[in-house]
Amino acid sequence: MRIMMVASEAVPFAKTGGLADVATGLSKALVEVGHEVALLMPYYRKHISEDLAGEVVGEVRVDFPGASIDAKVYETTVPDSQVKVFLIDRPSFFDRSGLYVEDGGDYGDNAERFLFFSRAVIEIAKTLFVPDIIHSNDWQTGLIPALVLQDREEQGRLSNVATVFTMHNMAFHGQFSNFQMTNTGMDSRYYNWQQLEYFGSLNLLKGGISMSDMVTTVSPTYAKEICLPEFGYGLDPVLENRGDDLVGILNGVDMNVWNPALDQKIAQQYDYKTHQAGKAACKAALQEELGLPKNPDAMLFGLISRLTDQKGLDLITQKATQILGADIQFAFLGTGDSNYETLLKELQQEFPDKVAAYIGFDDGLAHRIEAGSDAFLMPSRFEPCGLNQMYSLIYGTPPLVHAVGGLADSVIDAQRHTLDNGTGTGFKFDKYDSDIFLETVWRAVGMFKHHKEDWKKLIINGMTLDSSWNRSAQEYVDVYQSAIEKR
Ligand code: ADP
Repeated sequence: MRIMMVASEAVPFAKTGGLADVATGLSKALVEVGHEVALLMPYYRKHISEDLAGEVVGEVRVDFPGASIDAKVYETTVPDSQVKVFLIDRPSFFDRSGLYVEDGGDYGDNAERFLFFSRAVIEIAKTLFVPDIIHSNDWQTGLIPALVLQDREEQGRLSNVATVFTMHNMAFHGQFSNFQMTNTGMDSRYYNWQQLEYFGSLNLLKGGISMSDMVTTVSPTYAKEICLPEFGYGLDPVLENRGDDLVGILNGVDMNVWNPALDQKIAQQYDYKTHQAGKAACKAALQEELGLPKNPDAMLFGLISRLTDQKGLDLITQKATQILGADIQFAFLGTGDSNYETLLKELQQEFPDKVAAYIGFDDGLAHRIEAGSDAFLMPSRFEPCGLNQMYSLIYGTPPLVHAVGGLADSVIDAQRHTLDNGTGTGFKFDKYDSDIFLETVWRAVGMFKHHKEDWKKLIINGMTLDSSWNRSAQEYVDVYQSAIEKR
């Protein structure tokens, strides 16, 4: 298949979050199984150096009311891969310090910027790279399935193209004033409650969901949750309406980046056979780096997170004093809401020989916490997919998670039978409640301290799972096939 992957960010070009990892990781995996993939994104000149951008291979023109807007198209590849990349270069829109936001506020012309980008993609799909599938992601590209559908209904040049739309976060809608309809290139008949309109506004996420051939999100459980009012951010009826066309596919991990056998950022490399010595060395190095007592018996819990309400930090801070009564250490790494930053710092002051709280963004330290901790805390309130619990499995650091979204799908609770049959990988609790969280912590501590053989099984079960993109790439191929059949 010829697949166009369209995203507003992708590593190593520009990144603000998980979407950037997924866009590139999935594209590489699709190429590895024999498909031809072109990744399309804006050319953010302040983020993408000239030597990464390649060469100009064409121009596109989009007619906005009153003016035509041109862009140059650069072609390059994802480094060390066969993934083609087209960068759409319109400096007045994309040569800025932020991708979507600057000084804490959204750019006032985000609608024009991403409507232009989406329409430029459509022009490329008619000329430079004619695809079988256009796979677009999140609200920034939600107009694309709508434009393809309109073209198909008018029997245009894209009639044979099928569309897939993926939601990485239901919290962001791309909702704009209805006068932006004139910039979409869509006939006004599509501005209705079943397609582009949402309570009197243009809603690009809704357009992507309702007008694509297939819809996906980043875990099977989140796919069910977002059909409920509690998680759907108002679009749950639209999602429910898609029935079986909505599929949840768990993200994969780039095993060239997150892999303790290759990781040069950690004190000692290890695999599932050498994890005991490897993790002991990484733990001692981490304790030293963070100024914690170098005690191999103290159970060290790691946490790496945006510090927001989503991530379940209230459960941890409520129970921290009780937990720290036992022989336990915490390694916290994160930035975000100032109240959580303060709470973690206060814990460190109160328990200086048990708690290390690093407030900041530090990729190297994230790797060292994954490798050096005994277990990992991720009790999120909601979690579309989550990556850190998967890194924890790979690094032999059993995760302790709230059973929602991708956390429910990627971790299997340690019970007698799941340990014996080789499936148990961590600790899960169902109800978002601090007492239940605490019970789960004690369950993990009990196994770590008193059932060493079971703990070892848990580690090996996680480390020998296939968490790479291979598994998920095949599921996306099946979705592409379904989209082609529905077209
Ligand atoms: P989310 O996308 O909701 O933030 P994920 O677990 O899916 O959560 O992905 C977060 C990614 O960002 C992971 O790769 C994680 O290691 C990284 N990360 C988050 N906070 C930090 C931090 N303070 N320092 C370094 N890496 C971080």
